[in-house]
Amino acid sequence: MQSKDYIAREDRYGAHNYHPLPVVLERGEDIFVWDVEGKKYYDFLSAYSAVNQGHCHPKIIGAMTEQAQKLTLTSRAFYNNVLGEYEEYITKTFGYDKVLPMNSGAEADETALKLARRWGYDVKGIPEGEAKIIVAADNFHGRTITIISMSTDPDSYKGFGPYTPGFITIPYNDVNALEEALKDKNVAAFLVEPIQGEAGVFVPDEGYLTKCYNLCKANNVLFIADEVQTGIARTGKMLAVDHEGIKPDVLILGKALSGGTYPISAVLANDDVMLVIKPGEHGSTFGGNPLAAKIAIAALEVIKNEKLAENAEKMGQIFREGIRKIDSDMIELVRGKGLLNAVVIKPKNGKEAWDVCLQMKDNGLIAKPTHGHIIRFAPPLTITEKHVLEAVKIIEKSIKEIENA
Ligand code: PLP
Repeated sequence: MQSKDYIAREDRYGAHNYHPLPVVLERGEDIFVWDVEGKKYYDFLSAYSAVNQGHCHPKIIGAMTEQAQKLTLTSRAFYNNVLGEYEEYITKTFGYDKVLPMNSGAEADETALKLARRWGYDVKGIPEGEAKIIVAADNFHGRTITIISMSTDPDSYKGFGPYTPGFITIPYNDVNALEEALKDKNVAAFLVEPIQGEAGVFVPDEGYLTKCYNLCKANNVLFIADEVQTGIARTGKMLAVDHEGIKPDVLILGKALSGGTYPISAVLANDDVMLVIKPGEHGSTFGGNPLAAKIAIAALEVIKNEKLAENAEKMGQIFREGIRKIDSDMIELVRGKGLLNAVVIKPKNGKEAWDVCLQMKDNGLIAKPTHGHIIRFAPPLTITEKHVLEAVKIIEKSIKEIENA
């Protein structure tokens, strides 16, 4: 079978809920992936920042296969000998009293919303059924009905109503709007991405998160950071909120918490928040299973031992500098932090971001447009300077070829 056959089969038997780049991958190692014809590519998406540690990292795969041969799933009906080790490790890593383990990012976001509402009723004293959560326009928190109810992107929410009530939407990066919204005494929480990844890597003004955090404190409202995409060293610090030195009341992690091997997500909070949820009130069959526990410990150890946050910071600067030097009308701007970057593409001669991505694919680098005119560039954090510079050359060559086509 060739690439076109694999694509045709997926098209025939799979739901059409994605629009993939026409490349069929079969193998990955560190920052590279290979297609079924054996062609090698730089992976500049990293599975939407889930593969921060590089593809098939031997330490993570080692921990995974070792545990897979012992015990994979007990459900939380019973204790297992690994979950506590993971809970201790992750809470100490991020400085929280407790963790609630889940699987997907969306599930972790849902968990945080439930925590916030319950905290609002039990601790803050909001009348039952009236809790509100403030969210930012252009957010992306996943695909469940409640999460799309917070979305302002018609692709996400249109045609899926009726929607879950209880959300107040304010513009992103607008402190005054938050201050105004916080006048509502039934607000339990403010949920925010420290950088809006899916929206196109929107980096808020310096100090925005700190001001929001302080406003939340002043109004007895929980500050919830969704670091599913920005966390685990992607932006040049272990967490994106670390750039401002603030500590969210509720922290949501996912994606690279597993190094891209398996769906693992987590919600972290201190006891005053986490313990509002009692036995039987929330959970998941797979959340906190021993396989996930061992994988997540290994994935976090790799980040720390290989100093991937520091590397992301350095390589990100080299990447943005390289892109800024490219002389092309099609590059409107490059923005980002660490190795979460985006290039805004100005269409030329009918060619747009999608065409640039196809050309980059032909030249050996895969990335994906988000929202039509923006290309996100997010390689594994293990990338070296030599490879960043080589990747920038491929991007430059591809854009020039498209411009002159
Ligand atoms: N939150 C953020 C900030 C995300 O970027 C994503 C996915 O891109 C999610 C939540 C949802 O994660 P998942 O796809 O694992 O449900």
